[in-house]
Order: sequence, then C-alpha cells, then structure tokens
Amino acid sequence: MRIVVARLNHETNTFSPVVTTLTSFDPQWDEAARIFGKGSNTALGAFHAYAERIGAELVTPLAATANPSGPVDNQAFETMAEAILRAVGTGCDAILLDLHGAMVTDRFDDAEGELLARIRQRAPRVPLGVALDLHGNVTQRMVDNSDCIVGFKTYPHVDMYSTGEHVTRIIDAMLNGAGSPCQHWVHPPMLAATLRMNTNVACAMTDIVDLAREAEKREGVHAVTLFGGFAIADMAQTGVCVVVVADNAAIAKAVADEMAAQAWRRRAEFLYDELPLAASLAVAVEASVGPGEGPVLLLDHGDNCMSGGTCDTMDVLEAMLEAGLDGIVAGPICDPAAVGALIAAGVGSVATIELGNKMKAQGFVSPHAPVTLEGRVAAISDGSYVVSGPIYTGQLCRMGRAVKFVTANASILITELPHEPWDLGVFHCTALDPLAACYLLLKSRMYCRPVFEPRSKAVVECASCGVTSSNYDLFSFHKLARPIYPLDADTDWPPAL
Ligand SMILES: [Zn+2]
Repeated sequence: MRIVVARLNHETNTFSPVVTTLTSFDPQWDEAARIFGKGSNTALGAFHAYAERIGAELVTPLAATANPSGPVDNQAFETMAEAILRAVGTGCDAILLDLHGAMVTDRFDDAEGELLARIRQRAPRVPLGVALDLHGNVTQRMVDNSDCIVGFKTYPHVDMYSTGEHVTRIIDAMLNGAGSPCQHWVHPPMLAATLRMNTNVACAMTDIVDLAREAEKREGVHAVTLFGGFAIADMAQTGVCVVVVADNAAIAKAVADEMAAQAWRRRAEFLYDELPLAASLAVAVEASVGPGEGPVLLLDHGDNCMSGGTCDTMDVLEAMLEAGLDGIVAGPICDPAAVGALIAAGVGSVATIELGNKMKAQGFVSPHAPVTLEGRVAAISDGSYVVSGPIYTGQLCRMGRAVKFVTANASILITELPHEPWDLGVFHCTALDPLAACYLLLKSRMYCRPVFEPRSKAVVECASCGVTSSNYDLFSFHKLARPIYPLDADTDWPPAL
C-alpha cells in the first residue's frame, strides 16, 4: 500500500495587493514535508497517522502553506502542483490532500479544481480524499474530481486534525472494497461574512453545523459540510455551499438540498452590519473608564492581516487621533518605506513621516492618502521574535525590520511586512508593552484573541476601508455569478425540496 499525502494551502483575497510567491508558502519538499507533517495538528498530520497505522508506504511530495493574501503567482502554483503530480505519477493506492478550497492564482480562479482535475487525469481510479477549510469557495469541479471532500466544522478552526481523520475513514472504506461514495454540491446564491461564522457563539452558522453533524449520523451519510466560503474573492462560485458525501446520489442530494435550504432561509443572519467607526470609538472611550484591567482592544476588521489585509489602512488610527484619544498602542502597520526612512534617521531622532494607505488594490475603492505623523524613533529591531504562546509557542517569526515610532498620543509599531498580531512578542521585539496601553489597536479579527482578549478590559470591532471589509459596496465584483444575495437583494432561490 502506497499513499500520497500533501498539503497546499492558501486563502486568496483577490482584492488584496499583498503578493503571494513561492517563498510565501515556505514549501517543504519530500523528507522535509514528511517531518513537517508528522505529528502536526492538521489534516496533514491525521493523514500521516493513518498511513502509519495501516502500515502504508508514505509519499510526501509537498507541505506548503501561505498566509491569506492576493492571488498566487501561477508559476509557484505550477511548481507545487507538479511535485504532487509527479508523486502521483509514480503509482499509488490512495491520495490524501490537505487543501484550503479558496485558492486563486493569476491564471486559475479555481486553483484547487484545476489541481484535482490534473490529478484525476493522471490517476483516474485512485481513491482521492480532500480536507478543506470552512472558508473554502468550493466548486463543482472540485467535487467532480475527488471521491470525498470534508471541510472543517469550527471557526476558529480547532478541528483540522479530526477533519483529516474523517477523510481517512471514508478513503479507508474505499480501500477495503466499499466502492466509491457519491458527492453532491449545492451553492445557494449567497455571500456570508466571516464575522458571522464564529461557531463558538449562538448563530445561524453554529445551528446549521449542528444539523450537519446530526445528518452525518443518518444511514448512508458519510460527511456533511457547510462551507461559509470566503466572500472577498471575485470568482464565479464564491460563497456559501454544502457538500455531502453519501452511499448514493439520491441521499447525497437530499441532505445537501436540506442543509442549503437552511442556510438560505437564514441568509440575513450571515450579514455583518458594521457599526460606523465613530460609534465604535465612542464605545471604546466609554469602556476605557469602565471596570476591568488592561487596555481596550480595538480590532480593525477591515484590515485583518489573516484575510489578506495590507496592514497599512490608517482609518482607525487616524480617527482615534482626531478624536483626541491618548495612550494608544497600534500595530504592526506595514510600511517598508517608512521603516527604511526611520532606520536611516536613527534611534532618538525626531521625524515627520507619511504613514500607511500606500498599497493600492485592484477593484477596490481606497480613497485615502497616507497620514502625516510627527514623532520620535524610540527603537529599531530586526523584527524577529519567538512566539511566547499559548498557540504556536516557540515558533520563530519574522516581520521584516521594525521600528517603534512614538508620537504625542501613540506608540506605533511599523514593520516591513504585513504581520498578524497574535503574540506579545510582536511588540516586545521593540520593547513596546501593548498591555500598558489605554487603547490597543490591532489589525486582526480572530487570531489575536486567545492572547489579547483575556488581558483586555473590552473588545471593540472597528470598521475601516481595507481590503477585508465586510462592506461589499467597497468591492467591484466582475466574475461573481449574479444574482447573489446580498449584492442583489431580491435574489430568488427556491430550494428544490
Ligand atoms: Zn478558514
């Protein structure tokens, strides 16, 4: 028994100007991919454990993950796809892939569909199982070119490993003579906001995921996934969908239609009505004099690093300064030109800089100019730090060079690369203490929360005109199939039940 196992993972924000190259993926090949995957708390880790358990020979051509950003350089995709195809071409009994489901290259809108179609062509009869992210924009082509697709059921994603195990159970049955299962895909024409997919709270997403779990207990049903999709991707099949794996086509279709109808019925609950920025700041000011310890945490969800945000949108900081807020810590703000200028000026020097609002995105309205700030260069760092935890503890991270720039009201961490503020080390590398702030502004939605939320007295979500905004009016969709809710408010979709 010989099993090909690979991971190729990217969530593409087609509006993001943050480039995605081969280097962005830090691809691990062959033996390095094996080492990366073994014991990893991902679907890939579960695939490794399965292959080991059944005594199969494991072939590991690739383990590659890039943080969410703009479209993937197509040559990078070709290089990584070819590694997987070469491994498949040497002959195997099963293929297990850990993909995202919302990867777009500068040539292929449906990169996973393209990859799976090529694999199917190379190995038409080999069982092919795929684990996907809950934010996958899954397509009919992916379904047509795989035997089973199972997606995460949690956001934040804490079930990556168990999703991988789920895939292996279905593929294992195939290897033991169960025959190919049937898959059915339904895409109700609706977009869902990421901020409405938190499965830790009571919401439509949580309810329908619970229904999916229940449906998986039915006779003949192997897997039921509600994909929330990734709305800020301009491709035909962006949005919510359901994929069901079952013994036969009739069961798969019936369950998929049922789940999709539930999502459609509750479509309004997947919209995020953002509070105007001024109103959010008023909430923050009120919270700052309220009870509790630590800073008031302001999350700039329109410029969320881990959804392809440029980390250079200045709306929130600018509004905070205009409103006269004091004791601000903000960052990281990505501005390589400012970093270069401030490092050249040197520690202790006073400088006036034009900060942020420099990265322009296609199909996206960004009316703002850089913000003029006067301040002092308080510290310079190489921008590397070791994660103190609790997640990814011990991992070495690099943000490019970093500067602590201190103005009359704010201490700002400016970096050369966009970087998610998921650890205190992000700030400590320039001796900046974020917890001493009165207001802490982070460009994050979710990943910062385990570290910063328990140490803050309040959390306030703030809207900005960044490329991860929940305001669809800011985006020009050209390829997206229309009509779709809520862009076309009167979209009609009678579920076929
Ligand atoms: Zn996700």
